[in-house]
Amino acid sequence: MKLGSAASPGIGLGKVLVIKNEELKIENLSIDDASVEINKLEEAIEISKQQLELIRDKAFTEFGIDKAEIFEAHLMLLKDPEVKKRTVSKITSDLSNAASAYHQVIEEFILIFESMDNEYMRERAADIKDVSDRVLRNMLNVSIVDLSILSEEVILVADDLTPSQTATMDKSKVIGFLTDIGGRTSHSAIMARSLEIPAVVGLKDITKSVVSGDIVAFDGDTGVVTINPSNETILNYEKQKEEQIQKKKALESIIGQASVTRDGVKVEIAGNIGTPNDIAGLLKNDAEGVGLYRTEFIYMDRETLPTEEEQYESYKKVLEAMNSKPVVIRTLDIGGDKEVSYLKFEHEMNPFLGYRAIRLCLDRTDIFKTQLRALLRASVYGNLKIMFPMISSLEELLDAKEMLEVCKEELTKEGIEYSNTFEVGMMIEVPSAAIISDILAKHVDFFSIGTNDLIQYTCAVDRMNQQISNLYNPFNPGVLRLIKMVIDNGHKEGLWVGMCGETAGDPRIIPILIGFGLDEFSMSPISILKARKLIRSLDASEMKLIADKVIQMGRADDIEAYVTESFSSIEN
Ligand code: PEP
Ligand code: MG
Repeated sequence: MKLGSAASPGIGLGKVLVIKNEELKIENLSIDDASVEINKLEEAIEISKQQLELIRDKAFTEFGIDKAEIFEAHLMLLKDPEVKKRTVSKITSDLSNAASAYHQVIEEFILIFESMDNEYMRERAADIKDVSDRVLRNMLNVSIVDLSILSEEVILVADDLTPSQTATMDKSKVIGFLTDIGGRTSHSAIMARSLEIPAVVGLKDITKSVVSGDIVAFDGDTGVVTINPSNETILNYEKQKEEQIQKKKALESIIGQASVTRDGVKVEIAGNIGTPNDIAGLLKNDAEGVGLYRTEFIYMDRETLPTEEEQYESYKKVLEAMNSKPVVIRTLDIGGDKEVSYLKFEHEMNPFLGYRAIRLCLDRTDIFKTQLRALLRASVYGNLKIMFPMISSLEELLDAKEMLEVCKEELTKEGIEYSNTFEVGMMIEVPSAAIISDILAKHVDFFSIGTNDLIQYTCAVDRMNQQISNLYNPFNPGVLRLIKMVIDNGHKEGLWVGMCGETAGDPRIIPILIGFGLDEFSMSPISILKARKLIRSLDASEMKLIADKVIQMGRADDIEAYVTESFSSIEN
């Protein structure tokens, strides 16, 4: 039995698929029969072709033509007659085995491409490596980490899952995630919740404890994982799974009801999304809006920056789908644990404290302006609210707003329409911003508190580090005081204040947030109905008295105990 961080609720029970990039060992062997090797080559090329065609079609239906074109180009490389001709000649003249002959030919091609003057051609070397890696793996029967085609239901086990892996994987076949690293707010955990897939993260060595094909049973609510469980344990988990399904069904009676406390305080419960595809889950869970659209996923899992047109289409799609309900779209927040390989940033000692989010956008104004123009153009299709991430000073906020004005002027000159009524807000996720939130409030329409980062920066606790995850605690009184301060400062200036970090959906904290007067709660769609049920059972004036007491307390464990005791009568 193993214990990790409970990352996404639900019971996971099934076969494991361990994701590891197994190293390719290409041996140079002498052969007797060239025709056998030529057959191996042809077979590997044919299997690779079929795989790439499947991926291309899937990319087309799920992401559109641009992503599909990447795989179309890979297919062209795969079918290159010159590569095949030279490999066959090496097999027959040198009596080399197919893998070694193909590898040598490809290496020659890569060298040629890498030494070209033209940058575009140099970049094609990476495509050739990608395609040839697939061919060689197929030839040598070494597994390919391609989660977009899975033949059966699996529980993915990995060191960590990258956002691009989660974006391309076959969601209908993945029934759970288990990872070595990460905490509740790592991106694999957030993605698991948004996909409503049970997950446990931060298991330290789960990749070494299981092999593909093993059976695991785990509980995404407690973090307990059992490897190769007994029949009795399996039956137990199956029973729990059934109970959870029934509970989930019961929650459906909350659909269509208002998010209002017993004494009539109305709040908004919105959902967090990563792509327009997440809207379906959001609507199914009756979200009252999108409280956070993490746009960075548009920039990931591709080879070039997304164009203005592509971004405009995504934003428009979300705004239209939400049909005049509020949609908070956050400008690009890459860096930290969200890498974009083609931007080739320098290695940093502390990426979470480094060149990320608004810092990057104010430096790379080309990237920033493209996004702002796309957002402005989409603004006429719904109730858009633009939000800047990682603001740590008034200067940054004003510079970002200035850039928005520049884009507005450009569009006006070009005769392109945009709305004049959308709101502009910022995330409060850096303590320096929380501390001057009275000043910042004069320059925005709303605040959204990003507790995932606010806790990490306030307590100096890496949100990805399992070893110190006990210190990553939303009950930390320093964090709670900052949250209250931001809400009070926002209200003094007439702003609405929301929260889009994971704490917003945490039933242990929601009563305190109601007591603090938080206006909007944005969370993984899976948590919405549960949160609404809880809020409907609370009395806001009672919560205020409890919250006032909490803010005077000095120990996180005392606060947690006091809050748990105060709400023990509330069923959730
Ligand atoms: C946050 O920091 O709370 C947040 C919502 O942003 P992200 O998790 O994307 O860093
Ligand atoms: Mg953040």
